[in-house]
Amino acid sequence: MSLAGKTAVITGSNSGIGLGVAQELAKAGANVVLNSYTDTAEDHALAAEIADKTGVSAKYVQADMSKADDCRRLIADAGACDVLVNNAGIQHVAPIQDFPTGKWDAIIAINLTSAFHTIAAAITGMRAQGYGRIVNIASAHGLTASPYKSAYVAAKHGIVGLTKTIGLETAQEPITCNAICPGYVLTPLVEAQIPDTMKEYDMSREDVIKNVMLERQPSKEFATVEQLGGTVAFLCSDAAAQVTGTTISVDGGWTAL
Ligand code: NAD
Repeated sequence: MSLAGKTAVITGSNSGIGLGVAQELAKAGANVVLNSYTDTAEDHALAAEIADKTGVSAKYVQADMSKADDCRRLIADAGACDVLVNNAGIQHVAPIQDFPTGKWDAIIAINLTSAFHTIAAAITGMRAQGYGRIVNIASAHGLTASPYKSAYVAAKHGIVGLTKTIGLETAQEPITCNAICPGYVLTPLVEAQIPDTMKEYDMSREDVIKNVMLERQPSKEFATVEQLGGTVAFLCSDAAAQVTGTTISVDGGWTAL
């Protein structure tokens, strides 16, 4: 399937899943717009590298997804937005009585409210061009819960609700809106947690991965950023034109338990 001539905007895409999705969409022929809140030479180099490797046009746009105006400016600065992937996200883990209000506010803003703003800003252009694909990167925590992740679970359940609503609002148009719900994915963020967890539980790397991180992932394997990119590419294809307002789990069986 070719996405040649389409432009994909991926929020939070200077690392991890967002970067992997951008690389897979570029391989499928889409021009890509990378984003995060920083504005470093490395950020811009990531876009240049994708353009070099795939021949598509790629650029990096700084915008802070915790700020409403930045979310809307990202869509304007992108120049075009046929595919919108709302991926930017952060996490904080604490029991409810100790959960810092600032962390709650930041998680709701970045993981949920940013998608409201980017979708609102992008949808008029999608209508005008007669094609639109909105893909929200939710989580297995958009469908199930874990203790101590109140803000994250609330935001991810919220984005699943937003996905259903936009799916209905655009149901009779050539626009779809879906959420992908990954289980654990071995991004730099997750990799960085392994050494500390090995110390905490006095376990080998292998045991930490299988018995702690992947405890609830029946496949006992991480999902990969390539698999997530491929799932986004499928949702952009004609085969997925009637897939809307729903969730696709990429979680090794987590939500079947
Ligand atoms: P990551 O930390 O590697 O990526 C997060 C991205 O969001 C980064 O590019 C970061 O710069 C960006 N970001 C953070 N704050 C931002 C802000 N204010 N404005 C703009 N960008 C901002 O983590 P990841 O694992 O790749 O996570 C990406 C998404 O996937 C998140 O929404 C996360 O909740 C979701 N997810 C991850 C996993 C996993 O196991 N890694 C599982 C389920 C869902």
